[in-house]
Amino acid sequence: MVRSREEVSIARRTMGLNGAKATRAAIKRDIKARKSVIEQAVATILEAMDEELRDGLENTPKRVADMYIDEFSVLGDPLKDELSTVFTEEASSGSLVLVRDITLASMCEHHMLPYTGIVHIAYIPQGKVLGLSKFARLVKAAGRGFTIQERLGIKIRDALDAALKPLGTMVILEAAHTCMIVRGVMDPNSKTTTSSLSGIFRDDPAARAEVLSLLRSSRL
Ligand SMILES: [Zn+2]
Repeated sequence: MVRSREEVSIARRTMGLNGAKATRAAIKRDIKARKSVIEQAVATILEAMDEELRDGLENTPKRVADMYIDEFSVLGDPLKDELSTVFTEEASSGSLVLVRDITLASMCEHHMLPYTGIVHIAYIPQGKVLGLSKFARLVKAAGRGFTIQERLGIKIRDALDAALKPLGTMVILEAAHTCMIVRGVMDPNSKTTTSSLSGIFRDDPAARAEVLSLLRSSRL
């Protein structure tokens, strides 16, 4: 039987990391049941808003349900999966690693509206490193579910600290929040910056300054 993309990825996470092995059929049933609940809820919202059932809206409840489960759900702990492969690399100990301009996309938990931006992650290894592409995957995984920007940076920092035990980690997020653009104050230009620091970056202003100066320097 052909399995959808989300089934494969949820199964991978669930089977590898959560102890009990979920069977293929059980995963499929679970996903179907969750999507059905979301689909009905979205249909109810549209009805309450007195939207007429036109062609464009006909499959909207299904599309939203697919999107919520496939793109936003935290089923199977996606963050943990991205940190499962850590390399031992003594030679890099003490040298700064900065991965910059990682695309960020998440949904704010206050309004269920998207916020998007970029993330810069710096850390100083102490014998353990993470493959570079994993940082982008980590940001994508951390952004799943409904979040707030303030907590997202801390979540990424803490996950890296736990997996790599580096000398320090610095996570900077710059994001534009749709909930500030399409509703409320309707300010299309505001951006929110947050930084989450640990270890040497929290304790030593010079270490922080090195990252900030690299971020200011010209791009490739
Ligand atoms: Zn919001």
